[in-house]
Amino acid sequence: MAQTLDGKSLATQIETSLRTEIADLTNAGKPPPSLAVIQVGDLYASKVYVRRKHQACQRVGINSQDICLPTTTSEQQLLAKISELNTDTSVDAILMQLPLPQHINTATVLGAIAMSKDVDGLSPQNQGLLLSGKQGSAKVLPYPSEALLKPKLLIPCTPLGIMQLLNHYRCRLRGKVAMVVGRSALVGLPISQLLLQADATLIHTHSHSVEPKLLAKTADVLVVAVGVPHLVRQDWLKPDAVVIDVGINRQQGKLVGDVHPDVAEVASYITPVPGGVGPMTIAALLQNTVLAAQARHRVG
Ligand code: NAP
Repeated sequence: MAQTLDGKSLATQIETSLRTEIADLTNAGKPPPSLAVIQVGDLYASKVYVRRKHQACQRVGINSQDICLPTTTSEQQLLAKISELNTDTSVDAILMQLPLPQHINTATVLGAIAMSKDVDGLSPQNQGLLLSGKQGSAKVLPYPSEALLKPKLLIPCTPLGIMQLLNHYRCRLRGKVAMVVGRSALVGLPISQLLLQADATLIHTHSHSVEPKLLAKTADVLVVAVGVPHLVRQDWLKPDAVVIDVGINRQQGKLVGDVHPDVAEVASYITPVPGGVGPMTIAALLQNTVLAAQARHRVG
């Protein structure tokens, strides 16, 4: 049976070290890091995620504020709120909870968040820096870079959390075939970049890809971020592959991933759902918030 890549446990360790970093900041007379989370509308899943983020902030000593706007909020009103937070010197980091209602252009809104406060790394500037490899994260090998444990840039939280998990369990990437299923700006595209920068050989598939199973059979590392319950079955897998299941799907009141549990019989390592990528995403959010605060105060 595959060994579990225990995101919950690693996230707890990361929280412990963040408490120390935050104490260093406040002992130096600086305010604790602060995060503003904006949610537009009242999607149940978003509310649950936002609540977990605030709880995690509380555990480590980050001041978080909850900005709940009604579904009827116009794009202009949302942009005005972001502009206000961009110039608010008491706010280090801004997180826009996705998805946004359909009448709001997500790219426009993400592009309006100040680069230095863009804690999910989704503004065009931060995406561009990631693409150009300017975060300087990937070249300490054979594992994902140690530098990723302390990135210099705001890297999208879920991919950052995944790389830290791979690093923690010493999963080799250099020269390995890594396949990413799904190409969202939130997960699929940035994780592909990070895997490439860690010298993996990349296969990237999406909803139009032909014979994904055949491609997956060649992959040493398989990252699945699709949103289709149990899309990936045992017969997709190369024996001993490392499997990262990003999917969070609700099925009959239960959370299930994009990967069927029987894959654990063939894989060497696998992330559980829940308890794998989810807690690492939140840990990465906390780290990025602290990083943004340290950058503002020029410490760390
Ligand atoms: P998304 O924006 O909806 O993107 C889904 C991607 O999957 C698209 O690129 C789509 O291809 C591709 N896809 C859809 N059906 C497919 C199929 N049958 N075969 C291959 N590719 C297919 O989703 P997302 O934001 O990346 O999220 C994906 C999943 O991860 C969701 O379950 C989400 O809840 C979860 N998630 C979890 C975390 C966490 O912290 N654990 C964080 C973020 C997201 P096209 O581009 O061709 O349409």
